[in-house]
Amino acid sequence: MMWSIIFVFLIGLSVGSFLNVVVFRARSEDTIGGRSKCQHCGVELRAQDMIPVVSYFVLGGRCRNCNKPISIQYPLVEFCTAILFCLFFLRYYYGFSLPIGLDVTQSIVYLLRDLLFTVFLIVLFVYDLRYYLILDRFSIPAMVIALVVNYFLGLPILSMLSGAVIIGGFFLFQFLISKGRWIGGGDVRMGLLMGIILGLREGLVALVLAYAVGALVGIFLLLGQKVEMQSKVPFGSFLALTTIIMLLAGVALIDWYISMVGIPPEIIDFLSQPPVPMKF
Ligand SMILES: [Zn+2]
Repeated sequence: MMWSIIFVFLIGLSVGSFLNVVVFRARSEDTIGGRSKCQHCGVELRAQDMIPVVSYFVLGGRCRNCNKPISIQYPLVEFCTAILFCLFFLRYYYGFSLPIGLDVTQSIVYLLRDLLFTVFLIVLFVYDLRYYLILDRFSIPAMVIALVVNYFLGLPILSMLSGAVIIGGFFLFQFLISKGRWIGGGDVRMGLLMGIILGLREGLVALVLAYAVGALVGIFLLLGQKVEMQSKVPFGSFLALTTIIMLLAGVALIDWYISMVGIPPEIIDFLSQPPVPMKF
């Protein structure tokens, strides 16, 4: 068990390292081939400078060649990706927050599905946080992949499509009445993606959670004088974050909420079928 966790953590670090490259290359329009370079001086990185997390601290957060600071994004994304990979692994290992029991093969398939979706969501999260943009080149392939994967795993198509239409439509409505001033078209596609990944019930909770998390973060930043009321908001990042949370622990969160508030489960069930049905 210990070794499995370490193994999953190392895989997560490597994937996180790759995601950093994806985010920066998407910005600079570089081709995917070629060695990684320093953002400032363009010197090619040596192999020993590309060890996830470790290299950043060995180098003291500065480029070996030009001594300019390396973005803290590198170690943060690597570390957080690794932690998320471990959490998803533990979820399926212990069967936490699953609507029904899964055998070993099913657990592995669902684990891989969740990791794949999470990888896309991390890229969307980081990119929007950094550049205030939800890139179509990430959100659209993610939608297609999520739709195909979920369909073949037997997630009710009605739940996915109604989730996509209602959450995407919620953003489309705001986009249309504000003529694109409140939110961008990227948010509409993000809403579609949430519905497809999570289905209607989990997707709606992720949407509400995103506003709650966004408001909390906003209040803290305003109090700390880090932002003003008119500051740009990377709302896609909040949506990506809460989608990951619902993917990881949606069933447990909803059960907990129902038990707290005392809503009859039948009303909740009316909204959607279970998010993890079996077909194979
Ligand atoms: Zn440099």
